[in-house]
Amino acid sequence: MNRPLVDIGVNLTSKQFSADLPQVIARALAADVRFMIVTGLTAPLSRAAVALARSRPEALCCTAGVHPHNASSLDPLALAELRQVARAPEVVAVGECGLDYDREFSPRDQQRQAFECQLELAAELGKPVFLHERSAHEDFLSILKNARARLVGGVVHCFTGDERALTAYLELGLCIGMTGFICDERRGTHLQALVRRVPPEQLMIETDAPFLLPRDLRLRERRNEPCHLPHVAKSVARFADRDEADVRRDTTATAFRLFGLEARFGSR
Ligand SMILES: [Zn+2]
Repeated sequence: MNRPLVDIGVNLTSKQFSADLPQVIARALAADVRFMIVTGLTAPLSRAAVALARSRPEALCCTAGVHPHNASSLDPLALAELRQVARAPEVVAVGECGLDYDREFSPRDQQRQAFECQLELAAELGKPVFLHERSAHEDFLSILKNARARLVGGVVHCFTGDERALTAYLELGLCIGMTGFICDERRGTHLQALVRRVPPEQLMIETDAPFLLPRDLRLRERRNEPCHLPHVAKSVARFADRDEADVRRDTTATAFRLFGLEARFGSR
């Protein structure tokens, strides 16, 4: 039997899954993706993620946070709601939070403010952070450095940065989340070279479904699903020149440790 995997980033509250969510979860479980962390994107969607996790406690838990794209939605009312939702036992991390200067759907100053607020919330609750950074390394790092001593830990999810960024995050003791981006023969080649630099105790895998369908799967559909996580594990193993079974074992152990999953799911 294959070792169970943890998909640390699945957007199961997405409309793209509303028609067939039970089947999506069943396919993931059949592929040994035994545990999934549903990503919280806004205060109301974090509440929805908690409800979903509550409905499938054997397989799902979630994060609670406001994505940088939605940073301008984090007014005092939403922050109060987020603060309440994030306390739920189903919530294993605060996020996703961070900075995205690539698409800049929210103004940069609001992104920075929302990010700082959520780091404080994580520190207050003693929960790790689920981080997002795109084209914003300098500001992201300086905000994070200020808060790091108060944080229990975190993961830079869907890492796509360069070697300098990777080194800085690893030095802060953060974990790195690898997606199917690494399978992209056009955009992922730098990750293929960098993944071997991530120590096993700081490496996790995720699909970020419904986004980032691994290009080399050459599937007709465009929607990604958590059942494709084994392909990410296999690709990471190939590019890091490690045994696939070891990657499966270590990424699961790392996710269990950072997110305290044993308290939710028992021993793996
Ligand atoms: Zn993200």
